[in-house]
Amino acid sequence: INRKDYIQYDLSEIKDTNGGFIIDKSELDNGKKTLEEWTKENQNITFLNKNDNNELPKFPIDIDSAPKCEDCSSILIDEEFLKIYKCKVCKNCKKKNPDRYSLLTKTECKQDYFLTESELNDVDILPRKEKDNPHYKYNKMKLYLRYQVEEFAFKKWGGEDGLDKEWVRREEVKNIKKSKEFEKKLLEIRKRTRAEEFTRRFKAREGASEHQHDWSQAFGGNGDDEKYEENMIRRKCKICGLETEEIIF
Ligand SMILES: [Zn+2]
Ligand SMILES: [Zn+2]
Repeated sequence: INRKDYIQYDLSEIKDTNGGFIIDKSELDNGKKTLEEWTKENQNITFLNKNDNNELPKFPIDIDSAPKCEDCSSILIDEEFLKIYKCKVCKNCKKKNPDRYSLLTKTECKQDYFLTESELNDVDILPRKEKDNPHYKYNKMKLYLRYQVEEFAFKKWGGEDGLDKEWVRREEVKNIKKSKEFEKKLLEIRKRTRAEEFTRRFKAREGASEHQHDWSQAFGGNGDDEKYEENMIRRKCKICGLETEEIIF
């Protein structure tokens, strides 16, 4: 086991930070720690990890007045979250609690919390981070902090229960809409088939003037079809299907 794997910072750099953290070098150097001890120790000092720019954090001189993570009191809070959302949270806690600290798009806020466009556009109600939209160059993506969205939505709808009730109400409206749409479609189909039937008959009549009917042999007149009189014979045009009826006296 390489000890380097369990130490995520460079001791020589720590000396330059004017920080208030004192690490007993001999303790780290004695090399007699078990893997478990190393891991445990490492967990306790991860707050000394380098940031994204590969720099050790700059500690403020007055640690007492520095903003601290509201969850764990670490002073290594996410500066962007503080600046944009006025939210004091460190990167670790942010990662650990997506329920609170994940970011929601405007669409998600509308779908999950039933917030309106005007509410979401009001910076006084909800702060947001603007990000370039990968799909629309001129339309920036707006990202909202989940716990803030939830807080506002609970206030708006009367708590979590109120929000759930609103969800049920909307589902019902959707279902009614769906069954109405279904009915409408059925009616449309009925209307269309009826219209097609009329068109077919109309065309048949129109077509009559464009061709000489080619009449079949007379048929019927023997009483085997209840719909017709016994003394009625019929002929059918082989081209347009038009039927003639003749009564035989
Ligand atoms: Zn924290
Ligand atoms: Zn015909």
